[in-house]
Amino acid sequence: MDFRIPEETQEIINALKQFVEKVVIPLEEENRTLLYNERNYYLEDGRRHQKVEELRKIVRMESAKGGFYTMFGDKELGGEQLGPITSLLVAEALNKHYPNRKLIDQVIIPSPFTNGLTPILKGLQPSLKEKYLPGISSAEETLCFGLTEPDAGSDVWGIKTRAVQDGDEWVINGTKQWISNAAYANYCMLFAVTNPELVAQRKGGISCFFVDTSWEGFNVDSIIPVMGSLGGDAAIISIDNLRVPHDHVIGKVDDGFTKAIHGINNGRLGMSGKCIGSAQWALKKAVEYSNIRETFGKKIGEHQMIQQMLAECAMDIYAARNMALHCAWKIENSDKTPAKEISMVKAYCTEMMGRVYDKAIQIHGGMGVSNELELEEGFRLARTLRIPDGTSEIHRRTVARRLLKGDLNFN
Ligand SMILES: Cc1cc2nc3c(=O)[nH]c(=O)nc-3n(C[C@H](O)[C@H](O)[C@H](O)COP(=O)(O)OP(=O)(O)OC[C@H]3O[C@@H](n4cnc5c(N)ncnc54)[C@H](O)[C@@H]3O)c2cc1C
Repeated sequence: MDFRIPEETQEIINALKQFVEKVVIPLEEENRTLLYNERNYYLEDGRRHQKVEELRKIVRMESAKGGFYTMFGDKELGGEQLGPITSLLVAEALNKHYPNRKLIDQVIIPSPFTNGLTPILKGLQPSLKEKYLPGISSAEETLCFGLTEPDAGSDVWGIKTRAVQDGDEWVINGTKQWISNAAYANYCMLFAVTNPELVAQRKGGISCFFVDTSWEGFNVDSIIPVMGSLGGDAAIISIDNLRVPHDHVIGKVDDGFTKAIHGINNGRLGMSGKCIGSAQWALKKAVEYSNIRETFGKKIGEHQMIQQMLAECAMDIYAARNMALHCAWKIENSDKTPAKEISMVKAYCTEMMGRVYDKAIQIHGGMGVSNELELEEGFRLARTLRIPDGTSEIHRRTVARRLLKGDLNFN
């Protein structure tokens, strides 16, 4: 077994760090009062300020020019198709060195739901790939993924948005909720019921449509502010007699749900890498503080209870990192999707990040809950990440189901 970081991956990480230092950090510093004060960052209705969006776009497009933005995209879409091990290690490195940064998050490592060459786009007709991919891969344009609804989250078979065929077009009506980036996206991968009988049997009947968000009938109603923030990224959208040409169905009619889950594993690993990197940053801060802060005549790091918290953080990070690397290796070296392992990794890494931030805050005492150290921001993010992309419970359900079907393999 060789646990060293592959040379090519290390070179990518070094190049990315240079990019961040040269392009992103200076831009952040120039715009600190806009980016690091939520009263400036968000508008009254919870949307990001136009200037924030412009800055995000600059970073995205520079990243695309540097070849980073599309490096995890499939070759057939024009990407470099770098594998899950690299995706995991790159996400770890960025978040270990630059966590809680405004312009890096979701920009350099594209989310498969909102940015770049998401594998779902493989289902586009060739002529539409030609039309839409250049804007998406240059980062000029972004996406959103419209699946969840007010009455259907974990149980996607409960979606009610309906698409009815009318000649060469589909007419779609419904409401979507929690759709990340919807207020800024140029396109939406929109899911709707096309065959209610198949949906009732849970055998298909949901289709995925590629929709231009400027088309009449696609409306962003509101932004949902999240935990302790004045705004958010996710929106409620209403779909009102939206007409979509038949050739804009992604993949096959009635087969949209398999498209929805296909190919998002790298995204789940990317999220896990983010948690692993960010947790290491928080632990480093806790260790530094333990070595300087004194109480009762000695450094707090000399108190056994502080040592216990530090050691538990390290054990948690080490376990999460190794399980994620093993899972990435499994994905890279097998034709089968290791669903049990991906679920274990997503649930464990997001929960681990919460535990580590919680302890890091505790070790900092009052300073831990101040906004100044950015620990509270990471804690809020960790709390949030246990919900999107499959809740912790749904991932445990997947794991348990596999176990009960006899999958007791841990190799
Ligand atoms: C920040 C954020 C961004 C998001 N971005 C997107 C996006 O871009 N696009 C999109 O389509 N969606 C998005 N979502 C939605 C997300 O996928 C859902 O919130 C998630 O799937 C959970 O659905 P729900 O909120 O309806 O909770 P519910 O499904 O109603 O679940 C409620 C509770 O019940 C538990 N539960 C449900 N079923 C079971 C079960 N069988 N066994 C045990 N427990 C169960 C859940 O774990 C949870 O604790 C986002 C959500 C958030 C918070």
